[in-house]
Amino acid sequence: MKNLVILGGGYGGMKILSELLPNHLPEDVTITLVDRVPYHCLKTEYYALAAGTISDKEVRVAFPEHPRLVVKYGEVTGIDTTGRKINMADGEQLAYDDLIIGLGCEDKYHGVPGAEQFTYSIQSIEKARHTYSVLNNLGPGSVVGIVGAGLSGVELASELSESREDLNIKLFDRGKHILSAFPERLSKYVENWFVRNNVEIINNSNITKVEENRLYNHDVPIECDVIVWTAGIQANKIARDMDGEKDRSGRLIVTKHHHLPTDEHIFIVGDCASSPHAPSAQLAEGQAEQIAEVLKKRWNGEPVPESFPPIKLKGVLGSLGKKQGFGMMADHAITGRVARMLKSGILWMYKFHNG
Ligand SMILES: Cc1cc2nc3c(=O)[nH]c(=O)nc-3n(C[C@H](O)[C@H](O)[C@H](O)COP(=O)(O)OP(=O)(O)OC[C@H]3O[C@@H](n4cnc5c(N)ncnc54)[C@H](O)[C@@H]3O)c2cc1C
Repeated sequence: MKNLVILGGGYGGMKILSELLPNHLPEDVTITLVDRVPYHCLKTEYYALAAGTISDKEVRVAFPEHPRLVVKYGEVTGIDTTGRKINMADGEQLAYDDLIIGLGCEDKYHGVPGAEQFTYSIQSIEKARHTYSVLNNLGPGSVVGIVGAGLSGVELASELSESREDLNIKLFDRGKHILSAFPERLSKYVENWFVRNNVEIINNSNITKVEENRLYNHDVPIECDVIVWTAGIQANKIARDMDGEKDRSGRLIVTKHHHLPTDEHIFIVGDCASSPHAPSAQLAEGQAEQIAEVLKKRWNGEPVPESFPPIKLKGVLGSLGKKQGFGMMADHAITGRVARMLKSGILWMYKFHNG
């Protein structure tokens, strides 16, 4: 029996499973899925989980069941690529024939002193739950500092302001306008929403230090009751610690067939894989489809295509609370209720297709 080990049951890991199960797994192959959480988590909704506007149950999706799928619950601590084994925190070692690394990402603190120690995060389910508990225990008039106004910072700030009008929310961003990756028209639309909803945007900010309940913008101290960090991500430490070439975010460089240049049995999917595109669930799923294709061809003894067509990304959608949204679809900017309804629809479809 050959063992395909998938590290991480996130968007990449789940898509691989849905491509291979139930009909495309040869009789002599088993899959071992490893995750520290016993279900697939909808990371794209962590902003709402942290804000307290959806329940924990709404971000959980059961892993699929199959006679030749073993789900191993536990913490991966390292990968022995020479011995072809996964090291687990409980001391167990898991042997693999083929390996897919889809462990997602972590916050990147850009060397800002105190940021890792004194800020809260929404990058993992455990951290989003912790952030939920501190945010939701705040008294009226408390100050919440959110550092970073990309998609996740904007979604968190808007969700929180809509559900807790009593809080004083400050959104710090490096750029002249928030959402710097989007067209200026969209950034301005979102900025106007924040103005109407009493979220203070602090543009051109530079957070130089963080202490307990205090951050320094250009070295000027600002008191905050809670500080949430949404100002950058990097590949999971397990991927960062591996030998091999990486990009500036610690993501492993891969071939056009998504495996390491030095080992055709180690594939990388999602936020751990270097790509010209910004990391996203959509991208992870596109990569996963192609990895599943490579594995199926190899298992069937068929030639693997020389290259794959570019992964088609449909666009980006963000929410502004429960009623308004914004986004780019097929190079068109969309705003308002339609954008929000599309985002909810995509989430509904995802949950429907994943049981
Ligand atoms: C607030 C927010 C909003 C977002 N919105 C969007 C959006 O609208 N559209 C979009 O396309 N993308 C969005 N993203 C990005 C998207 O969530 C990620 O790009 C996507 O989750 C990456 O998928 P992945 O499979 O690489 O990893 P993940 O989905 O993060 O899965 C990684 C898995 O690995 C497990 N794991 C990690 N480390 C270990 C370990 N040491 N041992 C065992 N298990 C481990 C985790 O438990 C997790 O299940 C958003 C992200 C955030 C934070």
